[in-house]
Amino acid sequence: MDVSEDRTEHWGGCLCGAVRFRIIGSPIMAGHCHCLSCQKLSGSGHAFHAMVGEEAFEVSGETRGFSWTADSGNTVTTSFCPTCGSPLFGRSSGYPGMVTFRVASLDDPSVVRPQMAVYAKRLQPWDHLDPGLPAFPGMPPASGGR
Ligand SMILES: [Zn+2]
Ligand SMILES: [Zn+2]
Repeated sequence: MDVSEDRTEHWGGCLCGAVRFRIIGSPIMAGHCHCLSCQKLSGSGHAFHAMVGEEAFEVSGETRGFSWTADSGNTVTTSFCPTCGSPLFGRSSGYPGMVTFRVASLDDPSVVRPQMAVYAKRLQPWDHLDPGLPAFPGMPPASGGR
């Protein structure tokens, strides 16, 4: 199937509803990230991210951004709702033209399936890796890194 022909719309947003976003089509990549920054940002063991092209992403409502340096050395800007604080999506200098959004922000998060787990070396003893997914200690080889 040619993914570019997939024009299915998926809607998402923050907890309070002030920020809404729409993606068109299927994500290019989706996976669990166990890095320490994702642990901080989620208050949990990992975050579930999916990536789409900038042209497939549209946001409405005011967001605030926070920029930080990821383990990979890339500058990542995470955007969140200033009212309820939900982290929603981000952009990384390692992936120009791409937007990474939090899968759990979707109205129906079940439509996206993870393909991998990254930063498995940061796994907390109370979290676990999905045995059905490839797990990489850091970023997968040949990846720009997040
Ligand atoms: Zn909100
Ligand atoms: Zn991460």
